[in-house]
Amino acid sequence: MIFHSTKNKNLTASLEEAVFRSLPSDNGLYMPEKIPQIDSSFLDTIEDRSFKEIAVEVAFTLLSDDVSREDITSIIDKAYDFEAPVVQITPGDYVLELFHGPSMAFKDFGARFMAALMSHFLSRSEQEIKILVATSGDTGGAVAQGFYKVPGISVTILYPSGKVSEIQEKQLTTLGHNVRAIEVDGTFDDCQSLVKEAFLDKELSSKFNLASANSINIARLIPQSFYFFSAYAQLKKLNKPIVFSVPSGNFGNLSAGLLAFRMGLPVHRFIAATNLNNAVPRYLESGSFEPRPSIETISNAMDVGNPSNFIRMTRLLNDDLNLINEKIVGYFYNDSQTKKAMREVYGNTSYVLCPHTAVAYRALEEYRQHEETDFTGVFLSTAHPAKFIDLVEDTLGRKVDVPERLNELLSIEKVSIKMDTSFSSFKNLLLS
Ligand SMILES: *Cc1c(COP(=O)(O)O)cnc(C)c1O
Repeated sequence: MIFHSTKNKNLTASLEEAVFRSLPSDNGLYMPEKIPQIDSSFLDTIEDRSFKEIAVEVAFTLLSDDVSREDITSIIDKAYDFEAPVVQITPGDYVLELFHGPSMAFKDFGARFMAALMSHFLSRSEQEIKILVATSGDTGGAVAQGFYKVPGISVTILYPSGKVSEIQEKQLTTLGHNVRAIEVDGTFDDCQSLVKEAFLDKELSSKFNLASANSINIARLIPQSFYFFSAYAQLKKLNKPIVFSVPSGNFGNLSAGLLAFRMGLPVHRFIAATNLNNAVPRYLESGSFEPRPSIETISNAMDVGNPSNFIRMTRLLNDDLNLINEKIVGYFYNDSQTKKAMREVYGNTSYVLCPHTAVAYRALEEYRQHEETDFTGVFLSTAHPAKFIDLVEDTLGRKVDVPERLNELLSIEKVSIKMDTSFSSFKNLLLS
C-alpha cells in the first residue's frame, strides 16, 4: 500500500517508511492512497471467525503489498493474546469491551500491533530504534507494554509528574528492561514539546534512529479497524443496522471505524461522543471546525481541544459535508451528565462504566430517541473502570472490584528518572 500526506498527494511513502517516520515531512498525516475492499465472501461467513482470523483478513486486505500472509499471521499472533467481546447491556444496546489487553485500555490494540509490525521490519536489518513518547495517561502504558522486551527497540516515556493516576503511573514505571520512564516536573504539553524538539535536533537524529509511537502513526490506526469488523461478526445474526457510539478525543478510534466502513463493513452510522472538548460535535452542527484549548474533565483521555485525526475523519468521507452528516452524528456531555450515566447504568444493570465509556453510552441513548428504524446499538468501552478507581467509587458510592493484575501492580516499586522541563536535560539524558 502506498501512503500519501493529507497535505500533498505527491508526498508518498511505503508502509515501512510511514511507520518509522510517523509524520510526513510537510506535517500532514499519512493516509492510504486507495482503500481496498474486503472480500464480500469473507463478510458472508465472518460470524464463524475468531478475532485473530478477522484481524489477519483485514490486515492482509490492507497490507498485502508489503507483508506476506504468513508474516501478518505471526504479527497478529504476537500482538493479540486478548479478545474484544461484545456484551449485552439492555435489549438493544451492547458494549464492545476493548479493555482486555495488558494496559486495560483500547490503546493496546494499536500499540501491540505497531510493536509487532516494527519488530517485523527490524528483523530484516541491524537497526536499533529509540521510541520517544509523551503521555497524559493511557498511551504510555499501552506503548510500554507493547514494546516491552521487543529486540532492537528501546522506549523512553515522558509523563507529567503528579498528573497521571496511580495505576497509570505504575504501568509506566514498573517494567524496566528496554522501557524507561521520565517523570517531568511540568505538564503534558511540556512533555510533548520535549519530544518534538528531540525529533528536530540534528545531533540526536544523526546519532539515533528516533521513532514516535503517538496515536497519529498509521500503524496504530489500522489495527483499530479490526474490532469494528469483529463486533459486526458478533452481532450479525441480529440482522439489524448497526450504530457505533465512539467515545472520542483525538478521533483515531472513530477514523478507524470509518476505515472499516470504507473497506465495505456495513455500518448504519457512527456517533462521535465527546466531553466538553466538543470541536467535532460543533463542526457536525455548524460545518465549521474551530479547535479550542482543551478543558479538563473527568474523561481526561478525551480532553483534546484540537483533535489530530480530524483531517483523517473528513478525508475518509471524501471531505463531503453531506456524506459526513449522513454517516456521523455528534453529541457532547459535561461531567455531571457523565456521572449520572455511570450511576444509571450501574443502578439498572450492575455494569460499571469508566467515565469515557459513559459518554458513549449516554450519546447512544440520546441517539435512540431520534432514530426511527430499529437498530443494534454498540458503544465502545475504551478503558476498564478500575483504571479510574477513585472517581468510579466516588460516583457510584461503593467499592468496585480491581482486577488482580492491577492490584499486583500497585505493590511494585516505581522506578522513574526525575527531570526538569529544559531540553538540554533531556538531550543529555538521551546521549548518556
Ligand atoms: C485515548 C482514549 C480515548 C480517545 O480515543 P481517540 O482515538 O483519541 O479518540 C477514549 N477513551 C480512553 C480511555 C482513551 O485512553
